[in-house]
Amino acid sequence: MQTTKMKQDVKPIDCSHYINGNYVPSKNGQTFENINPATEEVLGVVAQGGKQEVDQAVTAARKALKGEWGDMPIRQRSAIVRKIGDLILERKSELATLETLDTGKPLWLSNKIDIERAAYNFHFFADYMTSVGTESYQQDDIAIHYAVRRPTGVVGLINPWNLPLLLMTWKLAPALAAGNAVVMKPSEETPMTATILAEICTEAGVPDGVVNMVHGFGETGAAITSHEQVDAIAFTGETITGSAIMQSAAPTLKKLSFELGGKNPNIIFADADLDDVIETTMKSSFINQGEVCLCGSRIYVERSIYDQFLERFVEKTKALKVGDPFDETTNVGALVSKEHYQKVLSYLDIAKEEGGTFLTGGKASDMEKGFFVEPTIITDLGRESRCVREEIFGPVVTVVPFDTEEEVLEQVNDTHYGLSASLWTSDIKRATRLSAQIEAGMVWVNTWFLRDLRTPFGGMKHSGIGREGGMHSFDFYSELTNVTVKL
Ligand code: NAD
Repeated sequence: MQTTKMKQDVKPIDCSHYINGNYVPSKNGQTFENINPATEEVLGVVAQGGKQEVDQAVTAARKALKGEWGDMPIRQRSAIVRKIGDLILERKSELATLETLDTGKPLWLSNKIDIERAAYNFHFFADYMTSVGTESYQQDDIAIHYAVRRPTGVVGLINPWNLPLLLMTWKLAPALAAGNAVVMKPSEETPMTATILAEICTEAGVPDGVVNMVHGFGETGAAITSHEQVDAIAFTGETITGSAIMQSAAPTLKKLSFELGGKNPNIIFADADLDDVIETTMKSSFINQGEVCLCGSRIYVERSIYDQFLERFVEKTKALKVGDPFDETTNVGALVSKEHYQKVLSYLDIAKEEGGTFLTGGKASDMEKGFFVEPTIITDLGRESRCVREEIFGPVVTVVPFDTEEEVLEQVNDTHYGLSASLWTSDIKRATRLSAQIEAGMVWVNTWFLRDLRTPFGGMKHSGIGREGGMHSFDFYSELTNVTVKL
């Protein structure tokens, strides 16, 4: 494989914390290495923050809530939020390159999804914030009641590595739109684009101390979630981490928003348009190396088209190109880290032990370096299989035939996850009937990953608490005071 250096001129960056408008190292000078998952080379070093840095960041944020930011007219704040989106687009090529170096995902994908959407998150909320109102009721001739909206306060934003900039901006944009100050903690695996985002915010006109960032591992996150001066935590990551955060935030009764893991079903009926099904299932299975919380990793296919579906799905999957993320013909890049790569490979061993049949893939790819796994399709696994029940978060799907609507619904809901589902049928009555019964926060009918940022985004059961998007985000990032005026 050619090295990435031969193909791009953007240099990886060392990552410092960002506190009160300045890049700062850790007080004790502690750092850790940032590794390129496609080459295993060291990209640079990252400051490792602890309680002290979190405390400084929270103090700066608390102070910034008052003064210029707190007093800013909404149109001015909206212009700043919009400008952040503009500046992200201006630095698109640099940000996309850094995202690909950090995550191992194909560069075309970083450009097309991650950076474009990151900018749009700001543009969307810059518009949205100018039209948000509150409730008001006239109670006969007795009283008028109206609600006053104010920022939640200092919010901790803690994020995973799979869509680093996109997911950070999905929280930061509404948090700023609603007037909060934040302490961000990007994933230790993918710190570079968030580091640039911090300086972009300052350049756009965000006053010092409103946006702070502390790098580090889980302990750094825990210092944020347990800090008594932090009012709320918006977290995206693993279900088990969400549970730990809930415990750590309990003594200070923080407001929580959780976007957690998923084990999402694709349900394909024989009356669906099979061309569409195949094209979309390729994406929902393998885009971003299968490292998207919304990926459909349990595929249920009506028995009468099971063989036909598999034949076409396997053929297309075999044709996917795994390799250099900077090669524009690459479909599937590297998994994010050695640890995650080993986790995904361990599930392939489990599938073998459980008697699964591999129709393609089933092993690491034969790249000399890097954490690459071949796109994998497994059949013949029972519903108790760990590969069917647990989140693998890699390019691995299981396919299971079904005979009846009742049977498939029962299997689909037999999980403690409840994030999303993709349902394929041309029968509109069946689509509406099943959509209402599938235990998931989002159901796509004859599509997948189609988003409108006004709609509620999030999971039920162990896949999340609360919803993001449009008014749902705004409600999380603001508090309401009801005022009653006696007439
Ligand atoms: P993770 O939970 O391991 O880490 C996420 C973040 O939490 C990281 O920044 C990490 O340092 C921090 N963290 C870890 N332990 C902590 C603690 N005790 N207190 C505070 N912070 C802590 O998740 P990951 O491996 O980075 O990401 C993959 C997971 O994210 C998958 O489960 C995936 O489904 C989920 N995800 C969900 C959504 C969604 O919208 N529902 C979107 C993307 C990813």
